Amino acid sequence: MNKLPDKLDDYNEARKQGFLKVKALKDKGVNVVGVFCTYTPFELIYAAGAVPIGLCGMSEETIPDAEAHLPKNLCPLIKSSYGFAVSEKCPFFYFSDMIVGETTCDGKKKMYELLNKIKHTHVMHLPQGQKKEHAFDYWKNEMLELKKALEQKFGVEITDEKLREAIKERNKERKILLDYFELGKLIPSPISGYDVNTVIDSLGFQFDRATQRETVLAKTKELREKYERELKGKTSDRPRILITGCPTGGVREKIIKTIEDLGADVVAFENCCGPKEKVELVDETIDPIDALTKKYLNINCSVMTPNPGRFKSLGEMIDEYSVDGVVEVVLQACHTFNVESYNIKDFVTKEKGKPYILIETDYSKSDTGQVNTRLNAFLEMI
Ligand code: SF4
Ligand code: SF4
Repeated sequence: MNKLPDKLDDYNEARKQGFLKVKALKDKGVNVVGVFCTYTPFELIYAAGAVPIGLCGMSEETIPDAEAHLPKNLCPLIKSSYGFAVSEKCPFFYFSDMIVGETTCDGKKKMYELLNKIKHTHVMHLPQGQKKEHAFDYWKNEMLELKKALEQKFGVEITDEKLREAIKERNKERKILLDYFELGKLIPSPISGYDVNTVIDSLGFQFDRATQRETVLAKTKELREKYERELKGKTSDRPRILITGCPTGGVREKIIKTIEDLGADVVAFENCCGPKEKVELVDETIDPIDALTKKYLNINCSVMTPNPGRFKSLGEMIDEYSVDGVVEVVLQACHTFNVESYNIKDFVTKEKGKPYILIETDYSKSDTGQVNTRLNAFLEMI
């Protein structure tokens, strides 16, 4: 039987329920794999008969726990994630059978070494760029290593047949999610960026994939009907904003909600909270490992050098979502997004002719007033 943490009674009701829910899943014999990044091939985990669960920390609550081991000057996403692990406050980490990490940035890859002391952490080594000829073979070997690690851990064989099935199902889910995200293309927008973020995050608490799909399909239907009934043919003076940069789950209130409260619509996310990983499907006609390698190598994160795909997809999204302004969010000490922001600003303002603002922030509330003032001035200018 799976044991609950000793401190359970100290936790609030929502967290207690979270622990009980994951424990019930574990008691049924389901294996759980904790994951952090968009580069993680979920299909391999599903084909191993396990359930992938996102572990990205989105709250400042556990940062003091993390800072006992990690430097203060580190990305809040890394500190928060590690803090949840060491403090036993995250039911998903607590009940994960293993963790799959990736060497996307220096802070994360070194944090995984510490995480591995608490729980078996398999780290996939990402190539530094997509263009070098050997990048494909390198990443393919990492896919094969993960496949082996999952097979050994769970005593299963990941056959091509299981993998093809997992690819097919995941592609279906991608299309469902893409339809939801693309509601942001409608004018006026029937969708709130804040709600999109909230709905996507809530899927992580529904382990049943059929329920996840139904939730998104129902939301899409509801919003499409709202558009047809109340909005179609009308005009709106709310500026249409695209969010780019680091994942924004931990600054949803401070940035996304503030933008919408100030009278704009967040219609698109070019960061990992949006359709970035959903647009390109996994090729169902070629060798499944080759197909996964190709798909996941193509993800446009600033950890790749160079990273031309991000500019291409940003340009397409600005056009397709009829964007009036771009807000780039950089989490404190995220060097890759921070450095890349120089070229992103140039691209947005000069090539696309749109206003751009960079907000560098963390998960604390200390800069809430300043962020609010800057966003207000930015939106007034549009
Ligand atoms: S921003 Fe980059 S490192 Fe972070 S989750 Fe997305 S792909 Fe991974
Ligand atoms: S936001 Fe940047 S620093 Fe933070 S984990 Fe992602 S890539 Fe690393």
